Amino acid sequence: MNLVLFGPPGCGKGTQAKRLVEQRGWVQLSTGDMLRAARSAGTELGNRVAAVMDGGNLVSDEIVIELIEERLPEAEKAGGAIFDGFPRTVAQAEALDKALAARGAQVDRVIRLVVDNDELVRRMAKRAAEEGRADDTVEAFKVRLEAYETQTAPLIPYYTASGKVVEVDGMGSIEAVSAAIATALDD
Ligand code: ADP
Repeated sequence: MNLVLFGPPGCGKGTQAKRLVEQRGWVQLSTGDMLRAARSAGTELGNRVAAVMDGGNLVSDEIVIELIEERLPEAEKAGGAIFDGFPRTVAQAEALDKALAARGAQVDRVIRLVVDNDELVRRMAKRAAEEGRADDTVEAFKVRLEAYETQTAPLIPYYTASGKVVEVDGMGSIEAVSAAIATALDD
C-alpha cells in the first residue's frame, strides 16, 4: 500500500501516520521529520535547509525527492509507505509517480484530512508551547499556510483526476479520525 496523507500543516498527518505505523506495520515517510533529523545531526544538508524551513517556505523539490527515494526500498519491504508531508508540489507528485512506477508500484490511495483554518492555527499554537518548533510561530505559520494554498492544494485536482482521493473529516478526536481513515483504507 502506498498511501499519501494529504492536508494543510497542522491537520494531523503526522499523528495519524504514527498510528498507522503501529496498527499496520507500514513505514512513515515524513520529509519534515527527515529534514529536522538532518538538522539536529548537523549535516551539510541540514544546515542548508534550516533558514528556509524556519521561514515556513518549502525546500527544493530535488532535496525532498532524493530523501524519499532513498527510503522506498525499506517501505516496500514493510508492505506499505505512508507519505506524510510529501508530495507538496505537482513536481514532487510527478517524481513520486515515476519513482513508484520504476518499482512496478503506484500511489494507491490519497487520504485528504479536512480541517478549517481557525483550528489549524489553534493546533499550531498548542504545538508551539509543547515542542518549540522554530516554524511554529504566527508569522512562519502564515507563510506555511500560504505555501500550502499556492503550491500544495493544486495536488487535489491532480489526484482527484485519478480517482484516488478519499476525504476524511479531520476535525474530530484523534480516535475518530483514525477510525475514519481505517474505513477509507479497508473499503
Ligand atoms: P507541517 O506539515 O506541520 O507544515 P512538516 O514537518 O511537514 O510540517 O514540514 C516542515 C517544513 O519542512 C516545511 O515548512 C518545509 O520547509 C519543509 N518540508 C517538509 N516537507 C517538504 C516537502 N515535501 N517539500 C518541500 N519542503 C518540505
